[in-house]
Amino acid sequence: MAHSIPESMEAWIQQISKRVPFRKRVPVPKPAADGLLVKILAMGVCHSDCTIAAMDAPIPGMRLEFILGHEACGEVVQLGSNVNASDFAVGDKVAILIVPGCDHASCPQCNRGLHAICRAPDSGNYGLGIDDGMFAEYIAIATRAAVKLPAGVDIHEAAVAADAVLTSYQAVRYTADVQPDQTIAIFGLGGVGLNGLQTAIHLRAKRILVVDKRQATLDEAVKIGIPKEDTFCTGDADAKRIEQYVAEAGIQVDTAIDFVGHADTFQSAQFTVRPGGTIVVVGLISPTCPFIPMVSVMNALTIKGSYSGTRKGLAECLELMAKGVLKPLVETNGIEELPSVMSDLDEGKVKSRMVLLPDWKHGSSKA
Ligand SMILES: [Zn+2]
Ligand SMILES: [Zn+2]
Repeated sequence: MAHSIPESMEAWIQQISKRVPFRKRVPVPKPAADGLLVKILAMGVCHSDCTIAAMDAPIPGMRLEFILGHEACGEVVQLGSNVNASDFAVGDKVAILIVPGCDHASCPQCNRGLHAICRAPDSGNYGLGIDDGMFAEYIAIATRAAVKLPAGVDIHEAAVAADAVLTSYQAVRYTADVQPDQTIAIFGLGGVGLNGLQTAIHLRAKRILVVDKRQATLDEAVKIGIPKEDTFCTGDADAKRIEQYVAEAGIQVDTAIDFVGHADTFQSAQFTVRPGGTIVVVGLISPTCPFIPMVSVMNALTIKGSYSGTRKGLAECLELMAKGVLKPLVETNGIEELPSVMSDLDEGKVKSRMVLLPDWKHGSSKA
């Protein structure tokens, strides 16, 4: 039976400098000729949503008001007029790549395969202030932003595939290029970092040291096979520090992956990796982080940023999720709870990744 598409829908809107998203009824978007209309089935909440809500001013290219949210999966309910029926069908369940790029041959980023950092107006960036995002009942997306769910991936996990899983997978698998003979250090085991740890285990890294301020998340790492002596709790002032431990034990850490991006983690990473080693920074928590020339320059360290990932990476993540190799930890709640979930997340009270289900209450928002 054809899905009947309403004229308007519920959405959580973020206005830059307003701090908290608010509800509004907005028109249901129309798919572009080469696009899809997707009914959202589950939505992940990312700390970047809190960062965006807390902004005082827009960054260049950002709209002042837009639908927030950049992690979701959904069901295709309408195809654009030029979409090939052999590629997508109504009823397909898809994960949505948040930064598919413009894919134009003349684009200096997309033509080098760097779609995630494309800044063109039609680059996607759903819910990041450029296009409307996913805390809504429907979203219109480009076909290049949709990856079909393989059998066996549930929608709660699929909701976080394109950000929490892909961002960590891309950082560990491709940007850090982790190899089986390497020792690596992972800083931050939140909703993103835990998936990065699972990826590093999948890639058979020789030894993995993990750092977090919360003992509970380090206990999760121990449960999936990290020896207790390779866990470091920065929230405990009396606990051993990773940089001190590797220096005393003579451990050569080839690569550190910083899923926090805090001044403390970045500084610690510089003291932890071996001469000639690499630091990959994924997290965006601190506005600035200290670069220590006497350490990083004199040890010839390589420092790389890793942002989101590719469509190929997302398809690989979904396959690994279907096989049970990557198992994102999620908790669920309802979309009406978004503001309180965001404040809990900002206060560090969410242990894994929060996924909201679309139990919208209609009638309370103004059109
Ligand atoms: Zn995110
Ligand atoms: Zn582009």
